[in-house]
This record gives sequence, C-alpha cells and structure tokens, in this order.
Amino acid sequence: MRLAILSDVHANLEALEVVLDDLRRRECDRVVCLGDFVGYGPNPNECVDLLRPLVEGRSVAGNHDWAAVGRLDITFFNAFAQEAIRWTQQALRPPVTAFISALPTEWSHEGATPFLAVHGSPRDPIEEYVLDGATAEENFRHRPFALCFIGHSHVPGIFATNGGAVETQLFPAEEPVHLEPSARYLINVGSVGQPRDGDARAAYAVLDAEEAVVTLIRLAYPVERTQEKMVREGLPDVLVERLSVGR
Ligand code: ZN
Repeated sequence: MRLAILSDVHANLEALEVVLDDLRRRECDRVVCLGDFVGYGPNPNECVDLLRPLVEGRSVAGNHDWAAVGRLDITFFNAFAQEAIRWTQQALRPPVTAFISALPTEWSHEGATPFLAVHGSPRDPIEEYVLDGATAEENFRHRPFALCFIGHSHVPGIFATNGGAVETQLFPAEEPVHLEPSARYLINVGSVGQPRDGDARAAYAVLDAEEAVVTLIRLAYPVERTQEKMVREGLPDVLVERLSVGR
C-alpha cells in the first residue's frame, strides 16, 4: 500500500491541486493529513471540501485549525498569523468549521510499517515544534512509537535513532529513504501550502508501506495565482511574499 502523507495545506488551493494530481499519478491508495488545513491562505473552504473525502478518518488537527474554530487562544500567534486567523474565522462555512472542530489530535496507521500521525510532536500534538535532535530525543523517550510523521515547522527533515544518539538527516526530494526495522524515526513531511525551507515548491511524502520506503516529493505550482487571491482578500503582505521564496 502506498500512502500519501501531507501537512500544512494552509488554505492554498493551487498547491493542493498540484499535490492531489501528483499523488493520483503515483497511484497512492490512501491520503493522510497532518493538520493545518486552514490559516494563512485564501481558500480554506475549498481546500477542506477537496481534501475531506480523501482524508476523512485519516487526518488530525493543527494549531491553526484549532485557532480558526476557537479551540486555541490566538494571542500566542504572531500578529500576521492572528490577522490571517481572524480572516479565516469569518470566512469558514459552518460544515467546514464542524469538520475541523471534530478532528482528533492523533491518528495511527496499522498494518505494514505502522506509524503515528500528529501535527506537532508525539508529546504535544498541537503545539510543539520538533526542530532539533534534543527535542526529538525527548519525544522518542516520551512514547514507544517506531515511526511518527509530523508537520508544523513546514521544514522537511528526518530525526532517527538506532538505540544511540538521535541523528538529524536532510530529507531531499526524490531520494527514497529506506526505513530500518530496528530504528525509530520522526519524519517531517514539510508543507503543501507554505514551505519554509527556502524551496517555494509544495512538499509532501509518499510511504510505500510494504517496502518501508519513504520519499519526499516537491512540486512547483502557480504561486502568483494564490498570491493574487491573498491580495484581493486583504491578507498581510508578509504572508503573500513569503510564498515566492519559501520562507
Ligand atoms: Zn502550519
């Protein structure tokens, strides 16, 4: 079974459409979403409508999702994020709000190559960022998972341990990573709708569960079209501009 694992769509419809076309071309059997469906981008309702039939029962909530439906205090977000969250709150249609409100904080895949799926970290699924080996190590100690897919930082990367110290590895596109049965992994799949690793292309990962191989995919999408909509909706310039550079 091939699973597409995507995160941080952030209401970017153009990026999402390109990713969905690609995962269909790669004949992925299932799609898993690691949260932040909305926030920042101009098409929250459209993105949820498109994704929902594919990921229902296989998706989790992110911090922006919770903020958009009033489950998280927005004063903890920076000023631009707060502005985008307020815009999202007034834009969301009731059925979309209901879907987001009901998202769980974690999901588990059983079968070949079982894994845990969360937005932030296994220890704190909604808010914690795993940005370094020390935080990854604390999470490995906190829970007994062998493999966990995360998003939240919008930066693809791999944290791995084979009993010893946690190694931080790059996760370059189109280079299949063979998961060792004895090792443990925290794998960040990057962001579909707002990449922040200096590469403006949309990111997602494909897991071949039988082969235990995971591959990062990067895809160009019509960024200007998303940006035009953001300008039209009055979303902050900083959020518009960062899409061009992937920061
Ligand atoms: Zn996010």
